[in-house]
Amino acid sequence: MVPDAAGGLCAERLQYAASMSDPSPARALATAEILSIGSELLVGETRDTNSGDVAAALADQGVAVRRIQALPDELTMVCAAFVQAMSTVDLVVSTGGLGPTPDDLTREAIATALGEVPVIDPTLETWLRGRWTRRRLPFPAINLKQAWLIPSAVAIPNENGTAPGWWVDRGSGPIVVALPGPPREMRPMWEGWVLPRLATEGLGVPRDVRTLRLSGIGESQLADRLGDDILRSNNPMVATYARSDAVDVRISAVDEPGRGAASPADPGSQPRAAAELADEAEARIMAVAGNHVWARGATTWPMAIDAALAGRGWTLAIVETGAGGSVAGLLGTLDGLAVAEVRSKRSRGLATRAHMIRIAREQAATAGADVGLAVEAVEQRGDLRVTIGVAAPDGDHVERRTAFLSGDQGRARVAVAAADVLLAVLRRSAPIG
Ligand code: ATP
Repeated sequence: MVPDAAGGLCAERLQYAASMSDPSPARALATAEILSIGSELLVGETRDTNSGDVAAALADQGVAVRRIQALPDELTMVCAAFVQAMSTVDLVVSTGGLGPTPDDLTREAIATALGEVPVIDPTLETWLRGRWTRRRLPFPAINLKQAWLIPSAVAIPNENGTAPGWWVDRGSGPIVVALPGPPREMRPMWEGWVLPRLATEGLGVPRDVRTLRLSGIGESQLADRLGDDILRSNNPMVATYARSDAVDVRISAVDEPGRGAASPADPGSQPRAAAELADEAEARIMAVAGNHVWARGATTWPMAIDAALAGRGWTLAIVETGAGGSVAGLLGTLDGLAVAEVRSKRSRGLATRAHMIRIAREQAATAGADVGLAVEAVEQRGDLRVTIGVAAPDGDHVERRTAFLSGDQGRARVAVAAADVLLAVLRRSAPIG
């Protein structure tokens, strides 16, 4: 039986449904909310990968995802979440709750939120029944609800399951997309049907995203230098991420509203382009921490060092002591690597500078390489004190650094410190690629 969806389950519905009928000017899909529906998500039985996938794809298009919510299979809560999302953002995407059982309530929730009544769609019913007929199985009546549609919804075909999605569009107001929960059903529908259709509806805005990779500075120290105004700005958005191999600063800007519209009376008031805003943020970051930037985008240490070695026409030999193979682990994939030797003997004290250069030179000579990198780590008061020696054709360099923490985390930091010193030496008199 198809229920009367306007059953008063979701109090905010009527007010919302009324506001939806107001015609709105040209639509842009700039903001979104994602609802992950299913009680199994709230007990940790299922990890919510759907919302991350959807959010990443939307962010990629310049859409600001304002909120991701996980919700139980409870009609009032799901309905209220739709109402709330529909009144705040341009696009609402839900996954889950499109199955045939009584606890799959996404259709009921959307219908209630919009004050529409679902009816069985004959085309969907034929398609659905056909799936059972083909297998010579009786059609379970419970599945009929998967053939429901409301007047403002069209079905999103599902080639990998029995739950068609819903594309809900009233011509004005937000677009609502409901997709099934299983990722193997959700993903092809999202990528193959929904995203292309959203693109024709004005999805996203022109944007500029760039990442600066920094070393030798902690995330909080960096945040301090950048200051609150830049880190709290919405456009451009600047965020720092402490990764195992770098502190990344991600700059993301979108065209200011109205950009590209008819030229304003005062050309100085033309809304700015995403690239302009991102350039400005980048210049500010470079001014306070530019000496820590070692790469851009998705460049890794091996990629940066390989490029620097290739630029000089050099090859490299590594010897490390007390770092548990972390340097070889980080740089072992280098094309320009002649040999990497890991010595497990623990040092008794800090190596002298002369010693580090001597073993760096010896290692390079033995391997027939142009550059020798010698790294020695010693535990000191819970941290690792590391001495890094680089013997290069155009001069030697020795530097001491402290890698905070010991154990695996400390050793990983030793490797990053060694890569940082090596890269600086390789770039010393060469242009930065
Ligand atoms: P079905 O027809 O399979 O019942 P449905 O749309 O009702 O589809 P759910 O019953 O909510 O989907 O979830 C079915 C399965 O899909 C879950 O058991 C889980 O394995 C997977 N799933 C659901 N939601 C998510 C999610 N957000 N992220 C990852 N997997 C999910």
